[in-house]
Amino acid sequence: MKTAITGGAGFIGSHLVEHLLAAGDKVTVLDDLSTGRLENLRTVIGHRDFHFVEGSILDRAAVDRVVAGADRVFHLAAAVGVNLIVEHPLESLRTNIHGTEVVLDAVLESGASLLLASTSEIYGKNTSDSLSEESDRILGSALKSRWTYAAAKGIDEAFAHAYWRQFGLPVAIVRLFNTVGPRQTGRYGMVVPRLVKQALAGEPLTVYGDGHQTRCFSYVGDIVPAITRISEEESAYGNAYNLGGSYEISILTLAQRIVELLGSESPITLVPYEQAYAEGYEDMRRRVPNNSKAKDLVGFDPKTTLDQIIQNVAADHRPVKAPDPLGWKVTMAAN
Ligand code: UDP
Repeated sequence: MKTAITGGAGFIGSHLVEHLLAAGDKVTVLDDLSTGRLENLRTVIGHRDFHFVEGSILDRAAVDRVVAGADRVFHLAAAVGVNLIVEHPLESLRTNIHGTEVVLDAVLESGASLLLASTSEIYGKNTSDSLSEESDRILGSALKSRWTYAAAKGIDEAFAHAYWRQFGLPVAIVRLFNTVGPRQTGRYGMVVPRLVKQALAGEPLTVYGDGHQTRCFSYVGDIVPAITRISEEESAYGNAYNLGGSYEISILTLAQRIVELLGSESPITLVPYEQAYAEGYEDMRRRVPNNSKAKDLVGFDPKTTLDQIIQNVAADHRPVKAPDPLGWKVTMAAN
């Protein structure tokens, strides 16, 4: 199968590239390397079935180039990370709304199928103990930049759905809940790599607010095969699927677990939100997925424990790298 991936040099994208190459796909990546890194693709650069195009999803010609001849497209390119969104709201809006429209048009013309990566962020402040795909979205003020990401991704989903209904574009949507794992950087906000790095360096772990806000972290090694399988299901077209972890944990307990598991001497510090983030930030107290739709469709049943996730993220941050824990070793075929 010929597959194109926008955002393939990013954290999730690069794992997807390895997974698909190992399964025998020919893979072309489009990435502008704004937050993605070529280093993430070090195991696949030079592979005869892998091609990389540096370019933006805002550039229709570049998108056409990678989509041409593809059977399926994964649209993962986006401005992500709370810090990035809050500090660069305009660029983020343009990338996340207009960029997706460009990809939808290009894929429609090419005849490929599309998998659109969306986010649990779209549920906003809904603190339900089981967010289903039909759950209400509760967003804060349109003038707070944090909510621009949720707003943009909501528009992306609506665009995708309209392309499906009006033009029959075969597009499925996945909503990812706090996906974590090796290669994720803490630079743009993400809590697990940040706290793990701090614990390994013996620095204080920065827990924002009172630390009682909760999340359900999921492992990239569980998410990537699920995304792949969903992209192969015709009944997924026109639908959205939650993909999240099954274990709810407060950020304070997460910090304590990281310190304990890594044998760190670091203290844990509570940092008020006003100090932690630029203006325009508002947190979510809770975010718990109901994964039953993805379970029914592709048997999604995330197995990796939080302890294992923390260990794998820690291994990725240590100077001497352990073998890749995901085990999708791509065999480098001779060119
Ligand atoms: N957070 C934290 N310390 C950090 C980074 C984040 O306490 O160094 C908190 C953040 O305020 C939020 C949670 O961890 O409550 C998850 O943040 P992240 O940015 O990883 O994901 P999201 O907010 O999008 O769920």
